[in-house]
Amino acid sequence: AVGAVSDSIPAVQICVRVRPMLQWEKAEGYEASAMELKEGINGTVALKEDGRHRHFGFNAVIGGDRTQQEVWEMSRLDAVVRKVALGFHATVFAYGQTGTGKTHTMEGFTYEHHCGIAPTMAAARPRVKAKATPAEQLGIVPRAVVALFDRVEAIKAEKDVAAPATSAPESFAPATSASSFSSTSSCVVRLSFLQIYNEKIFDLLNPSSTVSQREAGGRGEEFSGLRLRWDAARRHFFVENLFQYECSSAEEALQHYQQGIQNKQVASTTMNVASSRSHTLLVLTLLRREGDEEGNRTPRRQGRQGQGRPCQEVISQLSLVDLAGSERSIAGVSGRDAGKSTTRFQEAVNVNQSLFVLRRVITALSKREATGRNEIVHVPYRESKLTSLLQNSLGGNSYLVMFACVAPSERQDDENLSTLQYASQAACI
Ligand code: ADP
Ligand code: MG
Repeated sequence: AVGAVSDSIPAVQICVRVRPMLQWEKAEGYEASAMELKEGINGTVALKEDGRHRHFGFNAVIGGDRTQQEVWEMSRLDAVVRKVALGFHATVFAYGQTGTGKTHTMEGFTYEHHCGIAPTMAAARPRVKAKATPAEQLGIVPRAVVALFDRVEAIKAEKDVAAPATSAPESFAPATSASSFSSTSSCVVRLSFLQIYNEKIFDLLNPSSTVSQREAGGRGEEFSGLRLRWDAARRHFFVENLFQYECSSAEEALQHYQQGIQNKQVASTTMNVASSRSHTLLVLTLLRREGDEEGNRTPRRQGRQGQGRPCQEVISQLSLVDLAGSERSIAGVSGRDAGKSTTRFQEAVNVNQSLFVLRRVITALSKREATGRNEIVHVPYRESKLTSLLQNSLGGNSYLVMFACVAPSERQDDENLSTLQYASQAACI
């Protein structure tokens, strides 16, 4: 039955994923990393630092041989999506140096592999032949979209049984409690997809945002991005003029997602937006209304005893974030890129700042988790665009999964160590 979930999952889960050695790395004779993995749930990673071994424990340690399906299972994302369907917020991050598999983890087959049917579509239509894009290669995002719509279908099916007569939807009021749904709930899923680059917000689903960006460039101006506004009534930030699509199926949602991925590619090639230096954020908003027929018609009126309950709206958000590369070095800025070094430097500063704030936010949250949710821990959301936007879905009643992505070769062990440190500090283990 809908809502009968026995899965108990931690509010903060940190998973380490090591990608396999790539063909060209093998060809170049890269040495294997000195990391020692104890794979699995509650696994560990050991790595030598200055001659002494450092041990890190994580909710899951996922080795290079693991499939996308195994990653999905080990991170217990199905249970996380169920929580979202029950009215909780959840956020999934992919963190790590550029080239460690963040986009592979989130999207699955990367853009250069796309041909024919988009891989994300294969999830919604498993029977469609997708030769170049096998469904097992799909990442977390398409799997989460499909899983969420499965829950929505289940909720709707239950509703149809309980209340065949549906009433016309009304506009949604601010979020209320996340408890006790009635079987007459109806569900709406909205999707938005944006990129934060140099602390500027770009709408990946709005082509005219790309056009105005290009035009601003043509006039020699700098595109200022979409504005972040504070909604005082609902007490959260929102992005002004951001496109939000209402989706009635996983297939429809994945079509928008696919379009957004293509827009991201366009932005990176024609507008010189360095995608490794930007955060990509897909937000699925689930709106559920609860209340019976009478309650729906008279939302503000108390029903008589035993019938007609005021209807309530419950908003929950699932945010899926492919973070900017965590590499701190800007040593690559030289030669060909020298003329752009100011931009590259500014990019690095902005990325470092937002990842730093993000870690403090996660640390504050896991402290709150560890010390009981009542203790007040200052959470510095407002110090970056990313965390401001996620404030809603990183708050009290929320679930967080972070994939710390690391590379398999010895020459990346410095960055691997800093990723492991970041991840274990975030979890305050
Ligand atoms: P990032 O987004 O962190 O910069 P990518 O996801 O683009 O990294 O991965 C870098 C390269 O490694 C890509 O060519 C990608 O296809 C490959 N790759 C990453 N993870 C895996 C994996 N688990 N299995 C096979 N190839 C992978
Ligand atoms: Mg990437």
